[in-house]
Amino acid sequence: MSERRDELSCRLRAIERRIGAACAAAGRPRDDVHLIVVTKTYPASDVVDLASLGVRDIGENRHPEAGRKCAEVDDPALTWHFVGALQTKKANQVARYADWVHSVDRPKLVRSLSTAAELAGRELQCLIEVRLSGTDGRAGVDPGAAVELAEAVAESPGLVLRGVMGVAPLGEDPAPSFDVLRGVRDRLVADHPSATAMSAGMSEDMEAAVAAGATHLRIGRAVLGERPIVQ
Ligand SMILES: *Cc1c(COP(=O)(O)O)cnc(C)c1O
Repeated sequence: MSERRDELSCRLRAIERRIGAACAAAGRPRDDVHLIVVTKTYPASDVVDLASLGVRDIGENRHPEAGRKCAEVDDPALTWHFVGALQTKKANQVARYADWVHSVDRPKLVRSLSTAAELAGRELQCLIEVRLSGTDGRAGVDPGAAVELAEAVAESPGLVLRGVMGVAPLGEDPAPSFDVLRGVRDRLVADHPSATAMSAGMSEDMEAAVAAGATHLRIGRAVLGERPIVQ
């Protein structure tokens, strides 16, 4: 067993304890919450180690890095989540390997992903990225416009509406933001029974996300270590 694999194993166990404690505190079953390990900037060998340790969901935020890694790892047991900002012109390639796209935030991207998914003969699980801070320029649709965008996804061939995704603003209490996100999810699910997912919570704020109802945590640094490059 390599030293790196030992390190990942140890950090995964620590995350598992944090998720377990957060679920217990929130009175939620552990099975409600999926762990996505975000491996951006880290090599394909780490993904292979993570898979051997039982991780099934991998997150990436950039094309072509994501596509290269997915091809290199080539493991049908893994589910790939594209969590980063996505340019329309790259939708075509991302639709060939991503299983989930967490960053659907505009009608033009919906059209491109739908066409690409159809061409590739694949089905893409889509989350509406909701802007949780009006001020810091992050991607995402305003909470009030999420329903309309979700309708567009639900009506598009090749796409499946699965819920919402959000990134809480840095340096603030994330709880109010996560509550907004959950409110949007609850609105969507009333019309679309498949839209149950709430992708929220990163290394620093995962407890608050679980408390607010997150179903998919996107954890990078707490498993892999500090990234060498600022994202
Ligand atoms: C990098 C990234 C994460 C993981 O963040 P960590 O702080 O490393 O846990 C989650 N979501 C998105 C969209 C990311 O780009």
